[in-house]
Amino acid sequence: MSSKIVRIGVCQLNCRDDKNINFKIGEELIKQAKKEEAKIVFFPEGFDFICESKSLTLEKAETIDGPIINGYRRLAKENQLWISLGGFHQRTEVEDRILNSHLIINDRGEIVSHYSKIHLFDVQAGSLRIQESDYTQAGSSIIKPIETPGGRIGLGICYDLRFPEFARLLTVSPEDGAQILTYPSAFTKHTGEAHWEILLRSRAIENQCFVVAAAQVGFHNTKRESYGHSLVVDPWGKILLDMNLDSPSIRTIDLDLSYIEQVREKMPIIQHRRKDLYTLISSTNIAVPIKNINNEKIRWGQLEITASQIFFRSTLSIGLVNKKPIVPGHVLVSPIRCVERFSQLYPEEINDLFLSTQLVSTKIEEFYQGKSLSIAIQDGEYAGQTVKHVHVHILPRKPSDFEENDTIYHELAHHDKKAKGWRSDDEMAQEAKLLRKLFYRDIE
Ligand code: AMP
Repeated sequence: MSSKIVRIGVCQLNCRDDKNINFKIGEELIKQAKKEEAKIVFFPEGFDFICESKSLTLEKAETIDGPIINGYRRLAKENQLWISLGGFHQRTEVEDRILNSHLIINDRGEIVSHYSKIHLFDVQAGSLRIQESDYTQAGSSIIKPIETPGGRIGLGICYDLRFPEFARLLTVSPEDGAQILTYPSAFTKHTGEAHWEILLRSRAIENQCFVVAAAQVGFHNTKRESYGHSLVVDPWGKILLDMNLDSPSIRTIDLDLSYIEQVREKMPIIQHRRKDLYTLISSTNIAVPIKNINNEKIRWGQLEITASQIFFRSTLSIGLVNKKPIVPGHVLVSPIRCVERFSQLYPEEINDLFLSTQLVSTKIEEFYQGKSLSIAIQDGEYAGQTVKHVHVHILPRKPSDFEENDTIYHELAHHDKKAKGWRSDDEMAQEAKLLRKLFYRDIE
């Protein structure tokens, strides 16, 4: 297997409450990274500032179009490298709440990914008491890994490191999953000494990927001390870099991304997961890009559908337009795997199917200006199933669309038994094209 070497830079900082000083140090480290030819530089949580009090933290927080992020965008562009800016105190519309955000900035100075920390550090351990939720609002979604010149990166922040499900979700897809998990951190000395290295190595070993964790180090004020030891771990769990240093510094290091495949090939953990016994699913961002919208035929039970009928895809399900809709917007959601009966689905497929149904039906109801929804599965021949591939019917409903509401079930049983009224591939492709826009912003 040919190697795929990428050079990354990792910054370790000791930030205090002066934003200008912190920025100047960041600037110097980025210039250094450029000299050493890094393609992407990783900053730790709180790279903008770390304050002693909640009120000062709220006061100093900026929006993402404020001077700090604009400053880093300029540096990315001038130095033509990418930057992972983890743990930015992001001012929000809510007066006493910020978001703890991780931004990826490309070499043109554009923000190309934006994650807000979903697990807040509300912890009492020994003498340590931190209540992040006192001034921070938790993020509400997991962000799809982003393609960068340093590999495909999964975004986390600090305390997120303690949630293995989160890491697995980011890495599980062989095509779109993260090759590098990042945890920009300000781990406390107390928890760092006990857990930092073990947690980072565990995430790398179990997900068979690189882990990059830029960290804060030393005293930030009279109350707070960080553990340091910015770490880079390879997919076998080997520590490639451990920054056992007290002062702000940068180290560059080469990662061979092809090593991920080598480790996974020899021990295919992801394939060995028992999908029939347990499940892994995220409720956010379940729409995955649709590839090949063309006239290719795809098996659907005993029938074939055309790829251009598909308007939605998740990891395990598709949404397709109906060849003979009973009402406008009557669409179908199916698992990708071809099985006839509901009982044959794996837990993971059931979760995905119903989350997809919820997302699709919500959008479809709004788009077709429905006031309610009929959602139905005809499971087996004697329940009226004709297509031998599990599918959920979604039907937007309007007042008085049928004389009696429940007549729709009679229609469902009979509408596809008549020879007339079937739509052409072109008609279906046109509707699917419109519906795709509901789920994908940048789609033609
Ligand atoms: P059921 O009777 O529950 O199996 O539902 C089958 C559904 O599939 C009906 O609503 C049909 O209109 C629809 N259908 C049949 N053939 C196609 C096709 N080629 N493409 C899309 N929908 C289809």
